[in-house]
Amino acid sequence: MLDDRQFREAMGKFATGVTVVATEVDGNIHGMTANAFMSVSLNPKLVVVSIAEKAQMLEKIKQSGTFSVNILAADQQEVSMIFAGQLKNHQEVVFEHLNGVPVLSNASAQISCEVSAAHVEGDHTLFIGKVTDIRIEDAEPLIYYSGKYRRLAED
Ligand code: FAD
Repeated sequence: MLDDRQFREAMGKFATGVTVVATEVDGNIHGMTANAFMSVSLNPKLVVVSIAEKAQMLEKIKQSGTFSVNILAADQQEVSMIFAGQLKNHQEVVFEHLNGVPVLSNASAQISCEVSAAHVEGDHTLFIGKVTDIRIEDAEPLIYYSGKYRRLAED
């Protein structure tokens, strides 16, 4: 039987960006930090996020049928920690809307989606999102590797 710690450590060797997935139900915006994100298809334009069964976000996306993926910029580590539940006392986080979906101000990319499919796999649900709109900012990315936040090295 493979060990959870070893599995986590191996997955942590895959350096990723960091996103905040956001959705809105009855006027209440909910955000969650996620790095299990990838592009799926160009035509049609599809992305996927993987949400834990224990995350509050799961029911919220099921209810709204929409979500955004906000790719965080290098100066947004605090935002990542807020939406991972690691920072409780913080200033209010400002959201805008893109195609009716809440998106995070100052993210390096804001991607609004409609859920086109949901696949339960083990203790996570994969939401396939059909991309409805995109906004891009020119910013360096926040990186996550081996359980720590990093930045790209300067040339
Ligand atoms: P909660 O834990 O209740 O909410 C998360 C936090 O966001 C809370 O502190 C809440 O107060 C705050 N918050 C929510 N909405 C707002 C708002 N509108 N304004 C201000 N604050 C708000 N989990 C996954 O399932 N998939 C992943 O891909 C994934 N990747 C991760 C990557 C990283 C780098 C990290 C650090 C964590 C990752 N997690 C992932 C774990 C996940 O972010 C946490 O377990 C998170 O707490 C789950 O959120 P929740 O939906 O259960 O809601």
